[in-house]
Amino acid sequence: MTDWIDHTYDVVVVGAGGSGLRATLGAAEAGLKTACVTKVFPTRSHTVAAQGGIAASLGNMGPDDWKWHMYDTVKGSDWLGDQDSIEYLCREAPKAVYELENWGMPFSRTEDGKIYQRPFGGMMQNMGQGPEAQRTCAAADRTGHAMLHTLYGQSLRHDAEFFIEYFALDLIMEDGECRGITAWKLDDGTLHRFRAQTVILATGGYGRVFFSATSAHTCTGDGNAMVLRAGLPVQDMEFIQFHPTGIYGAGCLITEGSRGEGGYLTNSEGERFMERYAPSAKDLASRDVVSRAMTLEIREGRGVGKDKDHIFLHLDHLDPAVLAERLPGISETAKIFAGVDVTKEPIPVLPTCHYNMGGVQTNYHGEVLTKKGKNPDSVVKGLMAVGEAACVSVHGANRLGSNSLIDLVVFGRAAGLRCGEVLKAGAEQKPLPANAGANSLARLEKFRNAAGTKQTADIRLDLQKAMQAHCAVFRTEESLAEGVDKVTEIAASIKDVSVSDRTMIWNTDLMETLELDNLLSQAMVTIASANNRKESRGAHAHEDYPDRNDKTWMKHTLAWYDGDTNSVKIDYRPVHDYTMSDEVDYIKPKKRVY
Ligand SMILES: Cc1cc2nc3c(=O)[nH]c(=O)nc-3n(C[C@H](O)[C@H](O)[C@H](O)COP(=O)(O)OP(=O)(O)OC[C@H]3O[C@@H](n4cnc5c(N)ncnc54)[C@H](O)[C@@H]3O)c2cc1C
Repeated sequence: MTDWIDHTYDVVVVGAGGSGLRATLGAAEAGLKTACVTKVFPTRSHTVAAQGGIAASLGNMGPDDWKWHMYDTVKGSDWLGDQDSIEYLCREAPKAVYELENWGMPFSRTEDGKIYQRPFGGMMQNMGQGPEAQRTCAAADRTGHAMLHTLYGQSLRHDAEFFIEYFALDLIMEDGECRGITAWKLDDGTLHRFRAQTVILATGGYGRVFFSATSAHTCTGDGNAMVLRAGLPVQDMEFIQFHPTGIYGAGCLITEGSRGEGGYLTNSEGERFMERYAPSAKDLASRDVVSRAMTLEIREGRGVGKDKDHIFLHLDHLDPAVLAERLPGISETAKIFAGVDVTKEPIPVLPTCHYNMGGVQTNYHGEVLTKKGKNPDSVVKGLMAVGEAACVSVHGANRLGSNSLIDLVVFGRAAGLRCGEVLKAGAEQKPLPANAGANSLARLEKFRNAAGTKQTADIRLDLQKAMQAHCAVFRTEESLAEGVDKVTEIAASIKDVSVSDRTMIWNTDLMETLELDNLLSQAMVTIASANNRKESRGAHAHEDYPDRNDKTWMKHTLAWYDGDTNSVKIDYRPVHDYTMSDEVDYIKPKKRVY
């Protein structure tokens, strides 16, 4: 099995979710020979599950302005986002949505035929002054599904080649540059090396590091782990979004759009408690704020249910016709996963891991950065990252709902444009280094022959429970320190793993072990980064340091991981305190209240 099958492309995109497909399309459109490598069929990528919508200041249903969107995104990020990137995101957003519309995306419509837009948490008019802005464009509650199918359809019109059910293993690095990737073809066991002028990672988030997650089982952050194995850092991994309304027990998402349509939360006393925590935005405050309020209500004994350990979400006061038209998917999800008829009863919900703000550090072109000596923003040649795998950073310490789908298409498009600018189609590429792929092979062989005492699923469960207990909505000095020890121990226990199947064909045991290994490195850097940050900002709520501390902590975390010694190295880089153009000024930090 040591025979590599070699391929050469101008651009290789890893991942076929919204960001990967948009980047693939862009690179192919620029005339570059482009391959898209994906472990699942493109339209099964997690983007398909996105419900609520995609943010852009179209102003179809009330006044709006991209500068207001920018203000809300900066505030939502708790001033950790880079304002040059945020300006790019919000300015380009309307263009990216109209592009999707022109490609045939079936948006919901207003009476006069415009794209329908709903209110979402933290989205306001007039530079945060209010009232709320209707900014989130939606295709009912199946926006991601509509978007992914539109993008896949469009990408087939171009000459991009798809390598489907190929599992990417590692980056091929030479002298600090990325030269390509290695991959394992799952159905026939063959091994592949893709040489490219540029690799674009679009591998999504790593929600599966937690016990309760809204994300698909495939969300194991393989790209982040590939970057860590290549000796490069990931950024801001301590910032993990907990969505207020995962279905109790199952974790499946009930979109924030349901509160956008008028849904509200109650405790065991039937009280609409969000009025106390966020007097003006109430149930539509930012996600971190709502998740913390729910957690406090439960802690103080006002949770619902037999164990008083969850909260109710009411949609039962809404017109059933509106529910059927605007929220058909979640009505079905609530029926299947909670046994609830949303027109009659409340849905039992609990904050659930939903999004990773952290990821591979990039600039707004999608080019991967690393800190070299004094330069915190030095470009890694041949490597880009987009989507949830990347940290641009537009979401900073907390992402606003509907700002991820727009991030996928805006930065997927930017990466394609950048490739068109800096690469020459068919440019000669030097041969890969003689040992290219040797590290992937060694790792595969190690796990394929692993005959220890522990099942992959058991180690994964230990990891997910430890992360849930020590690194979720609230964190303390003690819980984090204990968590670091526990996760380090669990990461070391991978040496005792046992893989039952020794073949290379459809060996799901081996694949899940590789994914687990990827999750472990990300858990290590996540909990170490969280343990280091002695303040509360956005999604990182540290009970021993309840305030934001801009003087010391207005900086991005960079974390490197050494898998041989299970050790994490941490450093920091400054937040960009400037914008891209003269049209907007840097938005100065303020206290974040809703
Ligand atoms: C239930 C749910 C609802 C959401 N709703 C919204 C919403 O309404 N609005 C919003 O803005 N955001 C929403 N989000 C967030 C948003 O959907 C995601 O952040 C986004 O879809 C991620 O897209 P992506 O392109 O980065 O990756 P994904 O869509 O996760 O795709 C990852 C791709 O990488 C590939 N891949 C991964 N590892 C490998 C490997 N080793 N080898 C080869 N290929 C690999 C996979 O095959 C897949 O194609 C939601 C998220 C969830 C979980």
